[in-house]
Amino acid sequence: MLFGVNVNNSWLHEAASVMRCKHGCLPFLYLGLPIGGDSRRIQFWKPLLDKIHKRLSVWKCKNLSFGGRLVLLKSVLSSIPVYFLSFFKAPSGIISSLESILCHFFWGGCEANNKISWVKWESICLPRENGGLGVRRVKDFNYALLGKWVWRCFAEGDSLWCQLLKAKYGQDSAGRVRFSEGVGSSWWRALNFVWSGRGLIDPRWLSDNIVRKIGDGRSTAFWADSWLEVGPLARVFGRLYDLADNKHISVADMFQAGWALNGNGWKWRRRLFVWEEELVAQCVGVLANFVLQGDATDRWVWNLHPSQSYSVRSAYSYLTASDGSSMEDFASFLWVKSVPLKVNIFIWRIFLNRLPTKDNLLRRGVIEVHQELCSTNCGKAEDAVHLFIQCDVYSQVWHLVLNWLGLSTALHVSLGGHTEQFAGLGGNSKTSRNLFTIIWVSVLFVIWKDRNDRIFQMGNDSGVTLLERIKLQTYWWLKSHYVLFVFDYPFWRLNPLFCLQAIM
Ligand SMILES: [Zn+2]
Repeated sequence: MLFGVNVNNSWLHEAASVMRCKHGCLPFLYLGLPIGGDSRRIQFWKPLLDKIHKRLSVWKCKNLSFGGRLVLLKSVLSSIPVYFLSFFKAPSGIISSLESILCHFFWGGCEANNKISWVKWESICLPRENGGLGVRRVKDFNYALLGKWVWRCFAEGDSLWCQLLKAKYGQDSAGRVRFSEGVGSSWWRALNFVWSGRGLIDPRWLSDNIVRKIGDGRSTAFWADSWLEVGPLARVFGRLYDLADNKHISVADMFQAGWALNGNGWKWRRRLFVWEEELVAQCVGVLANFVLQGDATDRWVWNLHPSQSYSVRSAYSYLTASDGSSMEDFASFLWVKSVPLKVNIFIWRIFLNRLPTKDNLLRRGVIEVHQELCSTNCGKAEDAVHLFIQCDVYSQVWHLVLNWLGLSTALHVSLGGHTEQFAGLGGNSKTSRNLFTIIWVSVLFVIWKDRNDRIFQMGNDSGVTLLERIKLQTYWWLKSHYVLFVFDYPFWRLNPLFCLQAIM
């Protein structure tokens, strides 16, 4: 098939008939990717957005739990756009559209209704240990995927496609393809944008992590390349680089000439001042003990992965690393393996105070002041701490649970204290804390369900009924996760503590 770039149609038709082939028009699909389109335009990305939208709306989100929706959107996100994002840089408008589709889906919004997004998307995208749900951040993922091309421009510098790039965009003094912004095809421009790291917290994420591993030192620039742990000498000793007369010298030549304090390698434009001499001494200190490996050639190394070659995952986790947040304290209560994902998400929302409790609904203008009372008719206003811990009606449930376990103690009245105390009821071993956390989670979940029954279905179940629910729920959770939990339900009902101790 023949495609024309900047030629008129009749000429193209003629040429195609001479060559006895068909003629096509741009953009066209090749291996599933649009060729010849402009990836900076919204139209270019529309098929991708439509595809994702279609995939998600097949599922009746009403029938899926939070856990189900999370799993589904993670899988859609990690499969469909990868192909696009590994080749094209998505405009920020597209990233927000994509994220809004996913966000909408997660919170259960269907075509017709608009649900409240209780937690902002950026927080959902944080890693679990920092209080998020570990959903991929599209922008950073896009950067990490495109970074691989930049890496390949270095690591595969001799390959045909790199030669082509060099011929088209020029090369630097060390014979590598020259990155410079604002020239060339939109693909090349995007790659340069990624290389420059503009708009990122750490713009040097690529340049600092694609480094030279020195063999004989012949193909590495002494000043400009990053071949020492400190980074490129031209950057660390910028003053000296400015003064150096041999800016393009290789590591091998510099070594040969001598890089000791009075070595012949140091060539300056003028006499140095005393303080500049001191810089040289520092630089010499950095170089001390460095040995060339005469029998090996220099090569490129990706700093962030043990294999020393670029991995998208390592790049992504570097780009999204944050310095932690207060959620760390709660991490062990949050992600309990033996309870369903939807329940974990429920607990996550409690810790973030993002459940639709009445105080939260009031704050968002969904209900009015006179509707704020606790659904148990205890007479107080409902917020998470009241509902789950302090409410007269539901604190009875906690007493019943303690009784059932054969323990007696007064429980804390703050969420953090309560969690911590309950988890430690059976001792401080990891398993024991896990087991008691499972029960704790179950109580909260049952209370929440009961609260909703009261509001939406005029429910009025007694504390004893709730306790029975907790017994049954924890039974199944434990049974599905702990191999040693071999007891039948009647036995568990009567001897919970014995059963727990048996599997500790
Ligand atoms: Zn209450």
